[in-house]
Order: sequence, then structure tokens, then C-alpha cells
Amino acid sequence: RMVRLRERLQRSGAIGRGILALLTSGEIDMDTWDEIEETLLMADLGPDATDELMDALRERVQVLNTKDPDAVREVLREELVKLVNPDLDRRLAASAIEAPDGSMVPSVVMMVGVNGTGKTTTTGKFGRVLIAEGRTVLFGAADTFRAAAADQLQTWGERVGVTTVRSERENADPASVAFDAVQAGIEQGVDVVVIDTAGRLQNKKGLMDELGKIRRVASKALKGAEIQEVILVLDATTGQNGMQQARVFAEAVNVTGIALTKLDGTAKGGIVVNVQRELGVPVKLVGLGEGMDDLTPFDPYGFVDALLE
Ligand code: GDP
Repeated sequence: RMVRLRERLQRSGAIGRGILALLTSGEIDMDTWDEIEETLLMADLGPDATDELMDALRERVQVLNTKDPDAVREVLREELVKLVNPDLDRRLAASAIEAPDGSMVPSVVMMVGVNGTGKTTTTGKFGRVLIAEGRTVLFGAADTFRAAAADQLQTWGERVGVTTVRSERENADPASVAFDAVQAGIEQGVDVVVIDTAGRLQNKKGLMDELGKIRRVASKALKGAEIQEVILVLDATTGQNGMQQARVFAEAVNVTGIALTKLDGTAKGGIVVNVQRELGVPVKLVGLGEGMDDLTPFDPYGFVDALLE
């Protein structure tokens, strides 16, 4: 799948091809630096990260005293890896945990984010990833606000082999669905319960109240253990407006990771760096299409290679 991302980024001439062309067109001069900077900005790396990277690149290339395109490209690769930060903990909670009373309870993963970003789809695909790893999984359809959301999640569950706990009542309390899902998860002894939440963007206070309640109620069902993971689903193609909305979620709830969807639909791979810096949370999953195998754990090295090839 990283191969597909690579093809996509290549086809649209993201960072890699642009810079490669610059570096192979001859000596590196002032214009080359300007053009590299422009290419990075075009790839949505963001002004801060671009400045940081350009400073490091200029300095290191000066120290190396080289004009060899391959050497410069290697320095660029190393600096991009630093920006993506491979040291961040990107592991996803995937096994049962011990509750305060000593019993084993499932890890609970809550999916949050604005409607249309791919939350339900990502929940389905994440179930698939877990099943492929040999985990047992249950879905909770706590997006009770949109009538079709529970149906959509259930359909995904059937495709990937995961049972969905849902309410038959429209506008049921999302927290009560979460409670039921966690309880069912405990009864069935599953490893992970993934809860899809509503993505209507009210104000920060409303969001805090709603997500906070789900968290508290799930923790009660978990006999005092905490939700292990809150994944913020973010659409890579939405730009600044999407970032603004994501920030509201990140402020309302303690996000532990980002699922960046629709990376197949953009040449602007630099968004990964941008999003991580802005929200201070690692990208853990990337969506590369609408199919059930189109979600993959984020690999920083593979990603940088994809950007540069
Ligand atoms: P939700 O409202 O946030 O639950 O969003 P959905 O899960 O319903 O997804 C909205 C649309 O985005 C659907 O048409 C999905 O198929 C599509 N989608 C989700 N993830 C990806 C992705 O990684 N790539 C592409 N191309 N489309 C995606």
C-alpha cells in the first residue's frame, strides 16, 4: 500500500520528482534553494516545518561542502525523517487490559472527527486490520445522530467479520450504546471494542460534554479501566478548514493518535508533518482508498521514501 501512495505522490509530482529534477539539473545555487522551498510548501509541509527543514538543509550541505545532488537528497531524506519523527509511539491498543479489580477487559478505541472525514469507513477498515492480526473485535455504533450511520457501520462489520452493537432507537444516548458495546465486549471476551462516535461539530463545550460522557460511561463499564485510545479521523484533502475543525476535537478530548484519510486523493503528502506538529499527536493510521484493505499503519520511513522517490 505504501507502493500505491508512492505512485500517487509521484504521479502528481509531489516533493520527490520536483526536487530530484532540481538537483539533477546541475549545480545547486540560490535559485535551487528557492525552488526546493517552494516545492516543500506546495506539498503542504507548512511554513514552520519548511523553514526548519530549509535551515537544516542549507547548514548541513554547507558543512558537507558538496554540490552532489545525491548527497543533498540524502540530507533532505534524513531531515524529512526527523520532521516526521520516527520516535513517536505509534502502537495502537490491540489487546485486552487488566481492570483495577484484576479482571481482563477489552481495550476500547474511540473514533472521533467531523462527519465526512471517513470515520465510519476507517472504523470498518481498522476492524479489518485488527482481525488480520488475529485479534477479536466488536464495533459500537455510538453515532446515533445520523440515522444511517449504524447501518453503515454494521455493513462494514459484516464485510470484515465484526459484530456491531447498536441501538434500535433513533437518537439514543451515544454513551449508553458505548456502555452496551463495552459490556458485550467483556461478556464475549474480545480484545478490542472500537466505538464510532457522532461527528457533528457543535461548539467545543458541547463536544467535550458528549465525548467526556462516553469516556466516563465506557470506563464505568470497564470496571474503572480507561479508554485506551482516542483516534481523531482527519481528511487529508480538506486543508486549513479541516485543521481548524480537528483542533476543536483535539482541545475537547485527549486524542492519542490521528488517522489521516484520503491520502490517495492528494499530492500533498507533507500534510502528515503539518498535522502532527499542529496537533502534537502522532499519525498512526493512513487511509489510501475506499476499499477494506485501504488502511495501513503509518510507517515514517516508508512515507519519506514515498515522498522522495
Ligand atoms: P464519516 O461521515 O466520517 O463516517 O465518513 P464516511 O466513513 O462515511 O466516509 C465518507 C466518504 O469518504 C466515503 O465515501 C468513503 O468511502 C470515503 N473515504 C473514507 N476514507 C477514504 C480514503 O482513505 N480514501 C478515499 N479515497 N476515500 C475515503
